[in-house]
Amino acid sequence: EEGGVVEIDYVFKIVVIGDSAVGKTQLLGRFTRDEFILDSKSTIGVEFQTRTLTLNRKRIKAQIWDTAGQERYRAVTSAYYRGALGAMLVYDITKRQTFDHVARWLEELRAHADNSIVVMLIGNKADLVNQRAVSTEDAIEFAEEQGLFFSETSALSGDNVEHAFLRIMEEIHGVVS
Ligand code: GDP
Repeated sequence: EEGGVVEIDYVFKIVVIGDSAVGKTQLLGRFTRDEFILDSKSTIGVEFQTRTLTLNRKRIKAQIWDTAGQERYRAVTSAYYRGALGAMLVYDITKRQTFDHVARWLEELRAHADNSIVVMLIGNKADLVNQRAVSTEDAIEFAEEQGLFFSETSALSGDNVEHAFLRIMEEIHGVVS
């Protein structure tokens, strides 16, 4: 927008949580910069990245927060969740344990985040079809029981990433407007 001031109608803080190595950082990079970094190192110190887009004629700045490796030490703090309107709860479809831990992450959300937070369960690494260890049906059933939105994504190929983030932003918009 030439020389003008870009008016932002809303800022949506969205936190990305889930076990270590499920692809949280790569999902964030895919959505905010459309890139996948080969051999990515943990992004210690980087707190969030933003992308501004138009949704229902509103200019929305998505502020997507990365745990920056803190989840390894189970040291994700209340500050991380403060003001979050959405959470992407990510597991790796090839690692059953990361799906089994989703319940723990939900407890953590209930303890630290606002009650009205919109939660989306994400089964990432959907490109690794031959290594699948969590069926789509199991995940859908769990998501329905818990009242979560659900999507399978691949940060590597980009499949469904944009769609999942847009979906959670639409749901958040429904909550805040
Ligand atoms: P984080 O610890 O949850 O932030 O996970 P990272 O984003 O650092 O990713 C962990 C590893 O999984 C890295 O080696 C990534 O390259 C790889 N990875 C992340 N997303 C995908 C994906 O969608 N498909 C595949 N095949 N690998 C992925």
